[in-house]
Amino acid sequence: MPQPSRLNAEVQGWGRKLLDLFFPARCVNCRQTNGALCPLCYAAIERILTPTCPRCGHPLRDARASCVECRTHPLSISRIQSVAWHDGVLRQAIHALKYNRRRDVAEPLAELVAEGISNSAAPFDFITSVPLHPLREQERGYNQAELLAERAARLRGLNYQRALKRTRATADQIGLNGVARRANVANAFEAEPARVADRVVLVIDDVSTTGATLDACAVALFQAGARAVYGLTLARPRVH
Ligand SMILES: [Zn+2]
Ligand SMILES: [Zn+2]
Repeated sequence: MPQPSRLNAEVQGWGRKLLDLFFPARCVNCRQTNGALCPLCYAAIERILTPTCPRCGHPLRDARASCVECRTHPLSISRIQSVAWHDGVLRQAIHALKYNRRRDVAEPLAELVAEGISNSAAPFDFITSVPLHPLREQERGYNQAELLAERAARLRGLNYQRALKRTRATADQIGLNGVARRANVANAFEAEPARVADRVVLVIDDVSTTGATLDACAVALFQAGARAVYGLTLARPRVH
């Protein structure tokens, strides 16, 4: 007998398929045209082209060695880069992917992640993603970071592996400051030594604000023997 939540998810899944048949999904932003994200809205997503901290990816007024935060609290991760600003269309699209069950929007968003992979000079052995706690993943039906990472890896013909596990549930990072974010995700992840020992890993997430979550993943990967860890996120807020 399936668990009530799983049964519920299945019924919702079938309901959604029927709805899609009669009412094709509309653009998550303008809601005008069919398709997850129409070409016009996709084109409005603003790439990060201004100087950023070479370590954590924080936007800087002018290019310097690293940001103040990295000088006072250096990260374990080798580098974090982000593709586009977390506002406007992209903010709307990520919100739909995470909270409105718009799994279909992962497809166009993964193209942006693939673009970020191509632009990143970091050499790596495989791509992985920030895991959700199993309960959160069951509730959502998928892990949005994994959808993005898997599809982006496929677009670039690269290797994707599930190498990380979230060992405890953590509170949402929204509204927490840098120190609280680091404490919130500290020791929340575990990596499989068999997969990561002596490998260079690229970890994908949807949004990074302070880099605390990616850094906690990097710590787990280093504990499991990884040689180097890079981070790439689809989006980053302009300020934090
Ligand atoms: Zn649109
Ligand atoms: Zn920095």
